[in-house]
Amino acid sequence: MPAPVTVLSLLVEELNNGRIKVVDLTQPLDSDTPVIDLPPQFAPSPPFSKEVISRYDDKGPAWYWNTIHLGEHTGTHFDAPAHWVTGKDLANNTLDTILVRKLIGPACVIDVSKEVARYEDFLLTREHVQAWEGEHSKISAGSWLLLRTDWSRRQGREDYLNINEDGPHSPGFHPDCVKFLAHERDVLGVGVETVGTDAGQAGGFDPPFPAHNIMQGSGRFGLASLCNLDQLPPVGAIVIASPLKIVDGSGSPLRVLALTPA
Ligand code: MN
Repeated sequence: MPAPVTVLSLLVEELNNGRIKVVDLTQPLDSDTPVIDLPPQFAPSPPFSKEVISRYDDKGPAWYWNTIHLGEHTGTHFDAPAHWVTGKDLANNTLDTILVRKLIGPACVIDVSKEVARYEDFLLTREHVQAWEGEHSKISAGSWLLLRTDWSRRQGREDYLNINEDGPHSPGFHPDCVKFLAHERDVLGVGVETVGTDAGQAGGFDPPFPAHNIMQGSGRFGLASLCNLDQLPPVGAIVIASPLKIVDGSGSPLRVLALTPA
């Protein structure tokens, strides 16, 4: 007797026959991975490092393993609501208490790569989102809003962080846009290709760092340092973003995968 056809058996079939492909939205993680640069009065987050415990040697003849050391917000990583002071008292705000249902959701991908190529401090506005919705579809509640900027193509720390005398310059979201996405579209969170979810100059916005302030402050998530967003359709992909279950954790590196029609 053949097994019954279900949505899940069809998913496996489509993955096997290549009609659904898996896109890796994750950057490689090593000691060169850029970490956000804060003003000197604040504590810095350490870069990724690892040391061998044993590698088929006297310390462990048949096995290889490393110790790793890094800040929670290093490389491609997840921001939990507790990451920001505005989300500190919310329910289910840490990595170990987030509802797992929220770790899988549809993706809306807004491509502003051409605008960012012309102006590196580009900010997505409510009007941009509404124009995108007119062209595609209204953002459904529980969707990831992924901002394609092609920033992930920048090689090396200097170009990626892009810090001048007046601070970092990189694209992000206008505060009004973040409010719109959180409160009028009920997104799961925002995902970006830059080192953090906020624009480089967002420390001077009202409120400062609105993507963190408003997203985390309303129980929503962030994904930073994504790549390969150019391989996703505007709508139709599903993102699986499942951080480590660190007790009381504020965020963690993770492997972000997207399922997308081939
Ligand atoms: Mn972060």
